[in-house]
Amino acid sequence: MISRWHSVALWKRVLLGLALGFGIGLALRYVLPLPAVVVTEGAGHLEIPGAEYIGQYWIYPIGQTFVRLIKMLIVPLVFTTLVSGVTAMGDPKRLGILGLKTLGLYIATTFFAVVLGLTMGTIVSPGKGVDYQSASSASTDAIESQMEPTSTSAGLARRLIEIIPENPVQSLADGEILAIIFFSILVGIAILLAGDAAEPVRVFFDSASAVVLKLTSLVMELAPFGVAALMAWVMSTKGVGILTSLLWLTLALYVSCLLQITLIYGLAIVRGAMGLPLKRFFKGIADAQGIAFSTASSSATLPVSITCAETNLGVKKSVAGSVLPLGATINMDGTAIYLGLVALFAAQACGVTVTSDKYVMVALLATFASIGAAGIPSAGLLLSATVIQVVGIPADQSVLVIAFIFPFDRLLDMMRTLTNVTGDLAVTCAVAKWEGALDEELFRKE
Ligand code: ASP
Repeated sequence: MISRWHSVALWKRVLLGLALGFGIGLALRYVLPLPAVVVTEGAGHLEIPGAEYIGQYWIYPIGQTFVRLIKMLIVPLVFTTLVSGVTAMGDPKRLGILGLKTLGLYIATTFFAVVLGLTMGTIVSPGKGVDYQSASSASTDAIESQMEPTSTSAGLARRLIEIIPENPVQSLADGEILAIIFFSILVGIAILLAGDAAEPVRVFFDSASAVVLKLTSLVMELAPFGVAALMAWVMSTKGVGILTSLLWLTLALYVSCLLQITLIYGLAIVRGAMGLPLKRFFKGIADAQGIAFSTASSSATLPVSITCAETNLGVKKSVAGSVLPLGATINMDGTAIYLGLVALFAAQACGVTVTSDKYVMVALLATFASIGAAGIPSAGLLLSATVIQVVGIPADQSVLVIAFIFPFDRLLDMMRTLTNVTGDLAVTCAVAKWEGALDEELFRKE
């Protein structure tokens, strides 16, 4: 029984987990007659529907166990893979070229994403006739407490400086990915420059990265159960209420993301620029997509993306270990699509006309905000305040619009995260191919 389970490809098991979780969640919410449960929170008592109780108190902890297990791998994996990737590259000069190609492609894909989001938002008009004033006061409070003041250029300069870790051990402990990338690259370069004297350290990092990669594949054996629990949690606590209040926004986002994935990543990059088979690409990244969709976090998906790129697509460590962590931090095309859509949604709901100069402003801000967004759940929703204000909606109303989306944002977040991760992987393959760091035989292998 167990060996039969393991003989099925992991991505198929993950998809099965997603489907089962979806079904279980909906059955709990709509089919089974579960009695409401009274829980004590603080000094008061709260009556919550049975399905939400089971979802929140029983199923969610199972999903979180899995999420914590993969998050546990992020820092060790990025650090060891990146150091050993840089040393495997052999020549520090190649890093600069690799970095430029990576940044260029990341920016290009984000540009298409923003245009797609704004076009779709104009055609579909998801905010027309939406009564956002009905946002619940609980959501408004939650949003107000989480919203950060909008970032300024001074904030950007500070963030750039903070890429240099004052204390690398602290950055590793705090999981600051950009600082870790910076430090790891420098350590890799220093190992190369030190030559023979650094040989034991080079071998150590090689071996350490193999160990962490193995650990990732062990944790991934739990993925089907983890994603099932996460899906069941979302569906049992949120249901499909999104279909009544945010139907058009949801449709516009899902369709735009699917277009971005098939046209830009699939046809333009994988097939067009690289001349590689689409089916193999999508099969190879299915695990990462499943995890992205169920966790709604690019960062949490990172260990899985790195494993997929190396073991299924044949991307060399030097590229997978550098391009993917950077992508999980700065390349968020699904989020960029979403930000453009939400800006137009808000304008339409508030009856504000969006002039062409505001379109340009939204496009620019959506690009920067998507670069600045953290790869964690709901990051995009909180950042949408910036783009909503740019179209000319006062702060207090923008809080209402965001609070209106808030209860259902998870279902939107899942799709944008899937898109973000797919974009990172497509760009990684392209950079690997251009750098001669792609094992095409492995990529094409059935
Ligand atoms: N959750 C997304 C991610 O991790 C970011 C977002 O909220 O848009 O990629």
